[in-house]
Amino acid sequence: MRETILNCGGEIHFNSRISDIITKENKIYKIKINEEKEINSKNIILATGHSARDIYYLLDKIKVKLELKEIAIGVRVEHDQSFINQKQYHNQYNKNYLPPASYNLSTKCKNRSIHSFCMCPGGIIAPCATNSNELVTNGWSPSKRDNKTANSGIVVQLNKKDFNTRKYKHFAALEFQKKIENKAYQLSDQTQKVPAQKLSDFMNDKLSVNIPKTSYIPGTISVKMSELFPRFIYETLRGAFLEFDKKMSGYITNEAIVHAPESRTSSPIRIPRDKITLENNQIDGLFPCGEGAGYAGGIMSAAIDGEKVAFMVSEKINKKELQ
Ligand SMILES: Cc1cc2nc3c(=O)[nH]c(=O)nc-3n(C[C@H](O)[C@H](O)[C@H](O)COP(=O)(O)OP(=O)(O)OC[C@H]3O[C@@H](n4cnc5c(N)ncnc54)[C@H](O)[C@@H]3O)c2cc1C
Repeated sequence: MRETILNCGGEIHFNSRISDIITKENKIYKIKINEEKEINSKNIILATGHSARDIYYLLDKIKVKLELKEIAIGVRVEHDQSFINQKQYHNQYNKNYLPPASYNLSTKCKNRSIHSFCMCPGGIIAPCATNSNELVTNGWSPSKRDNKTANSGIVVQLNKKDFNTRKYKHFAALEFQKKIENKAYQLSDQTQKVPAQKLSDFMNDKLSVNIPKTSYIPGTISVKMSELFPRFIYETLRGAFLEFDKKMSGYITNEAIVHAPESRTSSPIRIPRDKITLENNQIDGLFPCGEGAGYAGGIMSAAIDGEKVAFMVSEKINKKELQ
């Protein structure tokens, strides 16, 4: 990809953070890099991901109308991979022929949807905070999927009514995320040790003793999840786990460890764009793209969105050249 860009006359600037977007008469004019260097441009593709909160605040400052996007929040549960294999392959797992098993669970509880998210067979739970005062989890699998544990996000779909839109307007879902991530950080004594609870203890709202070592490398700290989450999220998760245990008996066990929060499942903001031209309808030359703009939710969909946007930018430039 890099070679293609260079061969087409492009430049690549590493360690370069967009610190300002400058517009003139509602048109993109230039961007500022690392608070100093300026680059003139009539079009920019903004694909900064769902954790670049500074970019959302920047767009708000230049009066781009942002939209609140509903998000899902919950926990990341770790089981022994051998348990998942046993369940999914009905005790017939043979590592010579079969890959480590995954699962996909969803249910409804208290009028809310709950689903497994980014299930990682033979995987690792990772710290994914992007600011110093927060704690965030996510999961990944090495290519061999050969870690001895499996983890999955289990998240509750939230809706607009759950957020304080009166106070925070379009930033209300983002503020909700921030509050839980900061609370997790405080509960961990301002470290990156993740709040954790054995799953059976979670069901009984009981503080866990002797949490075994999990795949989360910075370590765990025993916390009652009912203290981290608003009551409705905790209760909904509890209801969902009961359902999951019916679908996969033994899912609820003290061998499974709940880590939290899983709070970055998708972007809490959508940056509006025209359905056809993919350009923002207020600022000429602004092309919101990928997960952070609210148009993708994963590696493939973000990549495809990038391709579509690049195509529309080239269409726009070519049209102008013909005029
Ligand atoms: C641990 C983990 C595991 C995951 N596993 C999977 C998986 O198995 N499958 C899957 O489909 N998805 C997975 N995802 C999600 C996936 O990574 C994202 O959906 C995808 O990367 C989004 O792509 P994007 O290009 O929109 O944004 P990103 O990949 O987030 O890219 C945004 C880029 O913009 C840069 N940036 C931010 N702010 C600025 C700025 N001000 N100036 C300049 N640059 C800036 C960032 O540094 C980053 O390089 C995982 C995510 C994590 C964290």
